[in-house]
Amino acid sequence: MEFLEAKKRHEELTKIIEKYAYEYYVLDNPSVTDEEYDSKMSELEELENEFPSLITRNSPTQRIIGKVLTGFSKITHAERMLSLGDVFNLEELRIWDRKLCEGLNVLNVSYNAELKIDGLAMSLVYENGELKYCATRGDGIVGEDVTSNVLTIPSIPTHIPIKDRVEIRGEVYMPKKSLLALNNERKLNNEPLFANARNAAAGTIRNLDTNIAKSRKLDAWWYYLQDADKFGIKTHSEALDFISNLGFKVNKERRVVNNFKEIEEYINEYTKKRDELDYDIDGIVLKVNDLSLYKEIGYTAKTPKWAIAYKFPAEEVITKLKDIIFTVGRTGKITPNAVLEPVMVSGSMVQRATLHNEDFINEKGLMIGDYVILRKAGDIIPEVVSPVYSRRDGTEIPFKMIEKCPDCGQNLIKIEAMHYCVNKDCPSRNIESLIHFASKDAMDIEGIGEKVIEQFFAEKFIRRIPDIYHLSQYKDEIIALDGWQQKKIDGVLEGIERSKNNSLERLLFGLGIKEVGQKLAKTLAKLYGNIDKLINATKEELLNISDVGTVSALSIYEYFNDLENIKMINELKELGLNMTYLGVNKVDENNFFFNKKVVLTGTLENYGRKEATEILENLGAHVSSSVSKVTDIVIYGSEAGSKLDKAIRFKVRTMDEEEFMKILEEANERSN
Ligand code: NAD
Repeated sequence: MEFLEAKKRHEELTKIIEKYAYEYYVLDNPSVTDEEYDSKMSELEELENEFPSLITRNSPTQRIIGKVLTGFSKITHAERMLSLGDVFNLEELRIWDRKLCEGLNVLNVSYNAELKIDGLAMSLVYENGELKYCATRGDGIVGEDVTSNVLTIPSIPTHIPIKDRVEIRGEVYMPKKSLLALNNERKLNNEPLFANARNAAAGTIRNLDTNIAKSRKLDAWWYYLQDADKFGIKTHSEALDFISNLGFKVNKERRVVNNFKEIEEYINEYTKKRDELDYDIDGIVLKVNDLSLYKEIGYTAKTPKWAIAYKFPAEEVITKLKDIIFTVGRTGKITPNAVLEPVMVSGSMVQRATLHNEDFINEKGLMIGDYVILRKAGDIIPEVVSPVYSRRDGTEIPFKMIEKCPDCGQNLIKIEAMHYCVNKDCPSRNIESLIHFASKDAMDIEGIGEKVIEQFFAEKFIRRIPDIYHLSQYKDEIIALDGWQQKKIDGVLEGIERSKNNSLERLLFGLGIKEVGQKLAKTLAKLYGNIDKLINATKEELLNISDVGTVSALSIYEYFNDLENIKMINELKELGLNMTYLGVNKVDENNFFFNKKVVLTGTLENYGRKEATEILENLGAHVSSSVSKVTDIVIYGSEAGSKLDKAIRFKVRTMDEEEFMKILEEANERSN
């Protein structure tokens, strides 16, 4: 390659890598897999090897790309927090080990072999035996103070029996179980899924709402003691034992390996055991065990040379793309899906995978009949990576996006990358809307699941949402159907009747308004109290709600300005469905806490933290976790620490538990 051509490619790659890194490190929402990112980085490294003059201080190969978010205060690390060099196969690892041995002029080096936990790096700093702060790596020099979020992890000691400054580094991670639960919830809320444990953990730690961190159940492993020699420690494995004795969680799946055969054994063992662990690992890490060698071995600009990460390859399999079929969602969104020859990948059988939209298929160049590479992105979502061009035999059929709805035949319209069927009477759309309306997280109508709705739809008993509440008129016909008896239909009808009493947020979520997930439905229900107020909300008003983005606000506005939707809501009203938020109803807006910004600190004797938060929120207060100048009240219990100090400093109104209880009693008396 000519220099000018290489320079151009270098610029292109730098731009792409910086974009990916921004999505990954700042937004915690990567658009490509780690393998794709790593391959772009390798290409960049190769170019720089060939043309060293392309190396600049700002090249992605030379710096840790990470950013500090606004919203967290900044912490300058006393010692830089580095990344790790990486290798992707045993051969590269052997070369790395050989070079290191040659440099030291020894036959073998002993390493401490550890698991590479798929989370985010964290630094804990203790002074005078007390936790001073927890900080992210950031760009390696400056990180973010995320103490309040990290402290939601119960296993982290807040006190240690050492007075000197101690810095401990490790990995905060999301256990597999927590990630699964979180992604299930996000799916229900129409929110994008986290592609892997690392992004989920990073997204949680860097969320400004501490309650979110608390609910997501993170954990941590600690793997490094800064300045271990200060404590007379000679090896890294001793340092790990030392911090374990201080009360830090140190991963037990570690051992000292003394030659390459032992390294290979360790890698093989954990490649096999990986699925059994209850946290995700993306490789293994080797660290030279003898601390006295670190200085001699040295550092690159972004990694220590005395450690290396061996990354596991993503499990990829090849299977046949038999067909591409289309499904119609409740909003009319058309999704192309790959119909695959069933195949096992990362522990489960896969025969379908979403292909997202027309552009995705065209960018990958997929043809029907292709053999394709399939993998599970973040070990969760099956993903078609690319066609295997070498296996084409000419029988493959080019993909062509459909122009009409596969169900009702209506012409599709394209909005950005997506195609939509806009026919409100499209049977697929209607069935999906009905299933959604009756589902557990929406109106929770027992006994009405996917199958029953499909059956009742085919029998023309229900076509639109209000028909559900007229179902009793078909009771005799239903009993006559296969699989139905009196008791079963009575149960369903009771469930339907019960659902009329649901609080507004269930109805709002159930209506299937584009962009309105469970959480937003609750926010709207709480804020407006009843559906009429929401229907009458102006565009400006919706755009100004802090938790509502522009797209969602416009979608809500459009929904309630469509006469047909209003007609349906009125029908539901006449059928006796509750249209108010049941929590907010009872709130007396004159109560002391209404609309106040409250922070709880210390241990309350009579209430758990969650309980007190709930009580306050039911009174219309906004409970947050950190004290600032806009805080109205700080309620403190015993052992209240820095938050109380801060409140006093900011001259924020403070309140002890006794006073808190007295005000609650008064509020109760008034509401009775
Ligand atoms: P890394 O994840 O490859 O390795 C370094 C990190 O490993 C450390 O900072 C630490 O957090 C972690 N770690 C886990 N267990 C450890 C242990 N036992 N000892 C020491 N460290 C341990 O490096 P990185 O700089 O955090 O991230 C770079 C990687 O991130 C890339 O190789 C790529 O795979 C991924 N990435 C992906 C995208 C994308 O768009 N998909 C973008 C940027 C980066």
